[in-house]
Amino acid sequence: LVVLSGVDKHFGPLHVLQSVDLTVRRGEVVVVIGPSGSGKSTLCRTINRLETIDSGTITIDGKELPAEGRELARLRADVGMVFQSFNLFAHKTVLENVTLGPTRAKGVKKSVATQRAMELLERVGVANQAHKLPAQLSGGQQQRVAIARALAMDPKVMLFDEPTSALDPEMINEVLDVMVGLAREGMTMLVVTHEMGFARRAAHRVVFMDGGQIVEQADPETFFTAPTSARARDFLSKIL
Ligand code: ATP
Ligand code: MG
Repeated sequence: LVVLSGVDKHFGPLHVLQSVDLTVRRGEVVVVIGPSGSGKSTLCRTINRLETIDSGTITIDGKELPAEGRELARLRADVGMVFQSFNLFAHKTVLENVTLGPTRAKGVKKSVATQRAMELLERVGVANQAHKLPAQLSGGQQQRVAIARALAMDPKVMLFDEPTSALDPEMINEVLDVMVGLAREGMTMLVVTHEMGFARRAAHRVVFMDGGQIVEQADPETFFTAPTSARARDFLSKIL
């Protein structure tokens, strides 16, 4: 569904993505791990062109992502993204945060968008907070709203960039549980996370990045018990 081929990205002299090849198949859940600065966030951001790339190609559902224009906007709508910081609109209610995308970008009628938003808020367990402002919610609740907001656009793939790393420990599981639910329903997901429990529960494949390269990838069981590269072994020894 998502195919990166020979993707290169520099920030000045820094070669942050080095000829990255990565395929995420429909319904597949891929967890990306690796040390700080290895390029995980940049990888996510290139997939919906929040970052440009220097060379290589990215296709989503068979269509190559162009650098700009209307086609880019359309393809970008197929990619839902959830960040570490929840990025909700602070002056809009929870419900408005979820309906805004569909009504503005997709021309969905307000009544239809509202009904769908309430279903999604129900699904992530925050329907009773719909009329509050984001600041009145806990971090875990806000992140679940951010997931509902992304889902409201009916994305083909969801990208998560460390969705739980800004949360207090007791809130991490409520967000991970929503993500595991999505995974079980067959959502295609690329998830950057240090939550190895999530990787073991939900990932079909773990991708290990270091220094802008995909060093190793395997199913979670194989990766965690028998990593083949020294760099992966070193990384795992620090986090497990
Ligand atoms: P972390 O685990 O800390 O989130 P990461 O794997 O997500 O790290 P990236 O954020 O992708 O890493 O960063 C990769 C490299 O690119 C880092 O060296 C970072 O300093 C650099 N970098 C990221 N964004 C920019 C930018 N906008 N301008 C210049 N350098 C950047
Ligand atoms: Mg990052």
